[in-house]
Amino acid sequence: MNSRIFLSPPHMNGTEINYINEAFQTNWIAPFGPNLVGFEKEMCEYIGAKNSVALSSGTGAMHMALKYLGVGSGDTVFCSDFTFSGSCNPVAYLGAKLVFIDSNRETLNMDPNALKAAFEKYKALGIVPKAVIVVDLYGNSADYDKILPLCEEYGVPVIEDAAEALGSEYNGKKCGTFGKIGILSFNGNKIITTSGGGMAISDDEEAIKKIHFWSNQSKENVNYYLHNELGYNYRMSNICAGIGRGQLKTLDERLAVRKRNYDFYKTAFADLPVTMAPATPGCKSNYWLSVLTIDAGCPVTPDDIISTLESDNIESRRAWNPMHNQPIFNGSDFITCENGESVGDNIFRRGVCMPSGTSMTEADLERVSKVFHSAF
Ligand SMILES: *Cc1c(COP(=O)(O)O)cnc(C)c1O
Repeated sequence: MNSRIFLSPPHMNGTEINYINEAFQTNWIAPFGPNLVGFEKEMCEYIGAKNSVALSSGTGAMHMALKYLGVGSGDTVFCSDFTFSGSCNPVAYLGAKLVFIDSNRETLNMDPNALKAAFEKYKALGIVPKAVIVVDLYGNSADYDKILPLCEEYGVPVIEDAAEALGSEYNGKKCGTFGKIGILSFNGNKIITTSGGGMAISDDEEAIKKIHFWSNQSKENVNYYLHNELGYNYRMSNICAGIGRGQLKTLDERLAVRKRNYDFYKTAFADLPVTMAPATPGCKSNYWLSVLTIDAGCPVTPDDIISTLESDNIESRRAWNPMHNQPIFNGSDFITCENGESVGDNIFRRGVCMPSGTSMTEADLERVSKVFHSAF
């Protein structure tokens, strides 16, 4: 059997272990410690944000960001429909109602026209959402030139879910910095990993201080245990942060390899009835995952491709299944500007995420291409 090619496996550069060794030698296993402080500072410098707090997951970061914006029971939150459930599960943790907004064909991200329709529909009902969660999908940024003025017009803060878009830029500015609060993920398959972790970033110092406090069990600064507010155990460990510091060192090199993967697939599949996912105008993507759609009229399905690749020990995946399809979110509203099939449903039906890891060799890519062709 050929060696396995994974979708997007962790890729260590060798420096991570030095930070871990240092933590062991100084016994900064816990609590907190210099790697945590260093990782937060270095990430701020990389992204161009003023404040950050490293947490145990991106989902936890989203939870804390929503809480900071005052989202609570009975409130309404708008969220990109075509995404991973980590974007919106925390809205449900807080007892708020989700309204899912369809994607735009040109960006696959939140459709500004559908967002506008949602604001108008809810305004007529006398409801202003507490927050809008905008996702930068697969590393491609949302269309912020259109989305931000709309949210401003209605006075609603944006949380940017940049879990998949670390290193991506929109109009020369790094993703994660477009909302009131940005969230990142360092889960195992993301562009960099801490073996599991996340971060909240913001230029608002108060927001990050508050999230820092809540995520450390809301321990008041006194010499006994005093809790005036509900606490959470969401902090990242100093060991995990050490992995993150090492990973950051080669992030830009990894972005170049992700782009190489995308460009390779684009050229190699030019003879097939498939189309690589588009990029938002003004966006320099991190190309986290190379995603393509099978052209309308072609009888080959994503499952055909995935099982063909699997037969040669190559991992690929379906595109995200839109949130309005999830049984758990059955009662949620969904806003689309399409008359028939929504954009998210259309991409889900036709989309495949190709192996996109940065340790793939040219020979690996050639192997993937050969097997991929055999599915047609
Ligand atoms: C991965 C991901 C998350 C959740 O991050 P975790 O660190 O896995 O909790 C949230 N949103 C999107 C879009 C993601 O891809």
